[in-house]
Amino acid sequence: MKKIALPQLIPQNICLKCDICCRFSEEFSHWAPYILKEEIADFSSEKIFPFFIKSYGINLNLKKEKDLFICPFFDLSHHRCSLYPLRPFDCQLYPFVLFYNQTYTGVVLGIDLQCPYLREIEREYLLNFALKLKEILEETSTLEMIYQNPGIIMSPHPNFQPLILWDKLNKIIFGKNLGLKIISLEDREIFKQFFMKKNITFSYAFEYLYAWKDIAYLLWKIIDKELLVFWKQKDDFFLLLSPGDALSLPVLSFIKNFLGKEIIIKNIGEEYLNFFKKNNWELKSEGQEYIYECEKIATLEGKDLKSRRWQSNYFYKHCLPRVRELKNEDIAECLELYVNWAEEKRRKNRPPYYFMLIEDNFFAQRRLLIDYVKLNLAGIVIEVEGKIVGYSFGYPLNEEEFCIFSEITNLKFKGITPYIFQEFCRKLKNYKFINAMDDAGLENLRRIKCAYAPLRIRRLYSAKYIQGEGFC
Ligand code: SF4
Repeated sequence: MKKIALPQLIPQNICLKCDICCRFSEEFSHWAPYILKEEIADFSSEKIFPFFIKSYGINLNLKKEKDLFICPFFDLSHHRCSLYPLRPFDCQLYPFVLFYNQTYTGVVLGIDLQCPYLREIEREYLLNFALKLKEILEETSTLEMIYQNPGIIMSPHPNFQPLILWDKLNKIIFGKNLGLKIISLEDREIFKQFFMKKNITFSYAFEYLYAWKDIAYLLWKIIDKELLVFWKQKDDFFLLLSPGDALSLPVLSFIKNFLGKEIIIKNIGEEYLNFFKKNNWELKSEGQEYIYECEKIATLEGKDLKSRRWQSNYFYKHCLPRVRELKNEDIAECLELYVNWAEEKRRKNRPPYYFMLIEDNFFAQRRLLIDYVKLNLAGIVIEVEGKIVGYSFGYPLNEEEFCIFSEITNLKFKGITPYIFQEFCRKLKNYKFINAMDDAGLENLRRIKCAYAPLRIRRLYSAKYIQGEGFC
């Protein structure tokens, strides 16, 4: 990528004397420098990103240094950035930051008041500098680049002071005055109430939707008492959650208004297909979800599960595992396991589509693990000789059904997959059903999921309609 050189508000000699930047209090700090997807290739020789990171920007992994976590490019002995002239866009932008306003209905260009130098600058000067900066960002097609990197836009924070509401960027993300909001942790209760009332019959819950927030814009609004959640990412733009058969006129006209000519609605359950069939929408099968009886997996009893039971016992007898609750401190080790698991798949020569899924899932898992406590997720880890060799976590869908969002294991251990599934179901004995989500259209995954004798399979569909082709 052609390096963008942004004008700097703070002179370099002042920055070098400061002891705030480039050091962080948390390992997975949201303040960690964000590398745009366009910048990832610049770091390929450093081998700091897993091999599958290609399509999205990501925060740098920080290094532990005494009580702090530091940027891997921070040279502690000389107290400076070791790649200063080539430092990422995010670092060049600082102390300016991009963040959502308090209502998550717009993006703001503002400043981070933690930068001590800002106390010496007059607001008017700052504002003029910000306007100049915005002009440059808009001129250099950086606007499109920022849009393609949703992870660079931060949540509002008490230390952030807004300067300019960025109209041009907001129009691209939010459309024109439609009152849509970006999903945030604060929306959890509203979504929960809605899902409960609506009795949604598949794995989508707030947690699932929130998981993708670093790689896509998840926009929502309630129209005519229906919760509409849109997915906006590069060229992918659709209604993620079908309002079922409740496509009232206000709902329909809102969807048309936002999505434009091509309307795509995903995750339509079989029970809602009639409306779409009647109105000539183009329907497509989008996979299926697997639901198991919790008690049955917890015991692995029965002839149909005999070989899984045998494998699980084999792992237990030969590896003497320890099972414990997944905790916040496990994030780094779990993500490392995920990367090793992906490496193992690479050795097996899977098709490119498979690695796109691995990449997308990495971001979703990372997000849920970072916000694990805030989201009140439940999970376990399996340890062998003090090292995590498997983890699994998820969230309840309702009082009866629990959704397992993730199950990752070190496949060198024979029998570990049925063992972790069984152990997690033992812990989830208060639930009647376990939803193991879909098979992403992968034949291998379909076979594995079927091998545990699902109680039910729920099929999901998408519907497409091109406006102006004779419907409503
Ligand atoms: S890349 Fe350089 S400027 Fe950016 S956080 Fe790391 S050390 Fe600091």
